[in-house]
Amino acid sequence: MTEQRRGSLYFYAAVFFSLGVLAYSAWLIISSAASYSEGQKENFYYSLVLGLMGVALSVSSLTSIRRRIQIIKAQSIRTLTVEFCEKCSFKRVREFKVGDYVQKNVGKCPQCVGDLLISMIYSETPKD
Ligand SMILES: [Zn+2]
Repeated sequence: MTEQRRGSLYFYAAVFFSLGVLAYSAWLIISSAASYSEGQKENFYYSLVLGLMGVALSVSSLTSIRRRIQIIKAQSIRTLTVEFCEKCSFKRVREFKVGDYVQKNVGKCPQCVGDLLISMIYSETPKD
């Protein structure tokens, strides 16, 4: 199991837990209304405050989970640079570095004395 898979499993668990808290809080608020109509003021305030706190907690954690998922998705996109020698067709793929551009001369080819140029820059998402 990769780090990323474990990370997304953690997110699923966190989302599931937050939804559980949200459902429980909603139930508390509904039952507080029932307590109120039965004249149980103490139960009413207790359930209402707890329910509202639960809703606030789960909504804020769901929001932060969503933000973290977006960050992880953005990070998982890899940008690759292809270096190519036109003389001997030597090809090398590496991670994109700042300053890379197509047709940039990146030095001598390790196989011949030709110039190694960047022929392509592209992005890819990792395969699951
Ligand atoms: Zn070459």
